[in-house]
Amino acid sequence: MSQKQSPQTLAVKAAENAFRTAKPVSTPIYLSTTFHREQDGSYKHGFVYSRMQNPNRKILEEGIAQLEQGDRCLAFSSGMAAISAIFQALRPGDHVLLPDDVYYNIYALIKEVYAPWGLSYDLVDMSDNQAIEAALLPDTKLVWLETPSNPQLKISDITHISQVVKKNNPEALIAVDNTWPSPVLQLPLALGADISVHSTTKYFGGHSDVLSGAVVIKGQEELTNRMERIQILGGAVPSPFDSWLVSRGIQTLYTRVKAQTETAMQLARFLEQHPAIEKVNYPGLESHPQHEVAKRQMPNGYGAMLSVLVKGDAHRAIEVSNKLQLFTTATSLGGVESLVEHRKSVEGEDSPTPGNLLRISIGLEAFEDLRLDWEQGLGL
Ligand SMILES: *Cc1c(COP(=O)(O)O)cnc(C)c1O
Repeated sequence: MSQKQSPQTLAVKAAENAFRTAKPVSTPIYLSTTFHREQDGSYKHGFVYSRMQNPNRKILEEGIAQLEQGDRCLAFSSGMAAISAIFQALRPGDHVLLPDDVYYNIYALIKEVYAPWGLSYDLVDMSDNQAIEAALLPDTKLVWLETPSNPQLKISDITHISQVVKKNNPEALIAVDNTWPSPVLQLPLALGADISVHSTTKYFGGHSDVLSGAVVIKGQEELTNRMERIQILGGAVPSPFDSWLVSRGIQTLYTRVKAQTETAMQLARFLEQHPAIEKVNYPGLESHPQHEVAKRQMPNGYGAMLSVLVKGDAHRAIEVSNKLQLFTTATSLGGVESLVEHRKSVEGEDSPTPGNLLRISIGLEAFEDLRLDWEQGLGL
């Protein structure tokens, strides 16, 4: 085109990428929603339109699939969107078995949204193997595990439960919410589960600045295809920037989680012997009722989440949490900053969480500083 172009056209061309062949070391963010089609009609790199797939999302999905030892990963715009997609893959009439202390938004999701759509469900103590077997129905198509559980840190034996479920209901799927341990500490798919699901908002992102989720599947090709259709057609996908932020977080995941876990273990031991504390829930402690199971299925450590029962009532627990200075009183977890939360007041009056329970997410601060903070916060 030799003809001089109009300013209107030049304006459009002004932002054209002149560096297609540059080789940046850190991954760029591909904001483009659409991709060049070749002359023969094909798409050279497989990218057509960003809801279907985007380079940042692809990098994220392939990275997580590898870390979780799964065959495929599908990324979503939040942990709840990922979880919702799993329920959507079921059919009306299917029965779901959930932990009686499941993450409370998952309970709300199935009760308020998916039960009216035709899923039925029961809640069971997922640390009680006999209760689980007794609760299986002929229509049970999904068994949901969350281990360690929130906020009581109960442990489910993934290997044993997977075997029992497959023996009774060969078609039933076992899904594990692996948000808390992350693949650094627990690999559900290697232990017998079919699906590992994440709120990547937490440890993967790691900096409390991005909302996203992921479903990782092992085998189960038909389910994978159906879930990919739900992802693409439902459209609850993470933005390129969100995908990029989580990928960036993953680069330091192992270093962060190992350090945070070490500090959590030390703080759990300190709080367990403190006279103002009634009980510490942490699977790394020998006093934890499923410590042996945890030791087997979390060989690299027990995570950076714990909860404590403060001696006294809810009022006293809230008072203690407000006195802490290095622990921000806020919900969520998995970031570099330590958080504390009075869980009962978040979950509501009908939640089974004790009123004197505080949930703690350990960050990357030094143990000694965190210990001194609890010492002054509990001050006798
Ligand atoms: C936060 C969380 C979720 C929900 O994830 P979002 O990213 O907030 O949608 C699900 N499960 C567990 C265990 C969580 O901690």
